[in-house]
Amino acid sequence: MCEFCTQHGEGEKWYLTMSNYSRDLLDQNDRRKYAAEFLNGFDQRVPGSIKKLDMIRKTPLMRLAKPILTHVQKQDHYGQVVPMEDVEKIFEIVQGAIRLPCVCRRVTTGNMNARYCYGLTLDKQLVNSLDDSFSLETLTKEEALDSIRKLDKEGLVHSVWTFKTPFIGGLCNCDQDCMAYRITHARRDYPVMFRAEWVAAVSADLCNGCRLCMRQCQYGAIRYSSNNKKVAIDPTACYGCGVCRAVCNKNAITLSPRASVKEAAGIW
Ligand code: SF4
Ligand code: SF4
Ligand code: SF4
Repeated sequence: MCEFCTQHGEGEKWYLTMSNYSRDLLDQNDRRKYAAEFLNGFDQRVPGSIKKLDMIRKTPLMRLAKPILTHVQKQDHYGQVVPMEDVEKIFEIVQGAIRLPCVCRRVTTGNMNARYCYGLTLDKQLVNSLDDSFSLETLTKEEALDSIRKLDKEGLVHSVWTFKTPFIGGLCNCDQDCMAYRITHARRDYPVMFRAEWVAAVSADLCNGCRLCMRQCQYGAIRYSSNNKKVAIDPTACYGCGVCRAVCNKNAITLSPRASVKEAAGIW
């Protein structure tokens, strides 16, 4: 299990631990203020931060900055990829969700109303402190799950996010327009999220080589071999999101606990 499970998981995966969604935690550490300030004006604030990062990322300074940036991120706003079955379990814990426009896509695509983010607290005080641009929708658990299942089929990767760790305030559904994807994976600047507690593998007996799963994978972890006309998953590249399974008509892809897969066990 990842370091957040050890620190905040009470023997369970940290994002399946009820106290990490609790009102008590939200009441502490100025979390409402932090979350509101994080979301309001994200699209005006973040391009400037990215410019600053661009200035140092190819210099020796980045080596010094990387552990500091990661440490701060882990304290304030850190994520982890979660497959659909864990999303279902999270919705056994929370009361419902607030759907809101994705702030990353505001920056990366200019779309101000891409509704891929789900707030996991219905706290009125926090909701009222978000600016009018968010036009929030309140969803029941069932409504939220139905819409997230559709996103899973489209290949969007689910992740949970802290607002002052360990409080979990949001569940995101992302592709390559995600700032976290770019900073952690595409640009490899510094990690702002963990991979999932899971890793995928393909059964060579079941795979028919259709390659539909390859289009679904945001991380380039699936390779096709013309030799045996089947695909295989590189466990060291797999983030464990599980969305490749949604398009496999042969049910050839399964997830296993990351800890049980030797090549992937220590890769977060
Ligand atoms: S993490 Fe994903 S859903 Fe959340 S704000 Fe970023 S792109 Fe949007
Ligand atoms: S979608 Fe399934 S059957 Fe098709 S290549 Fe991928 S694992 Fe094989
Ligand atoms: S191979 Fe791994 S990273 Fe790629 S879609 Fe499947 S579970 Fe996600």
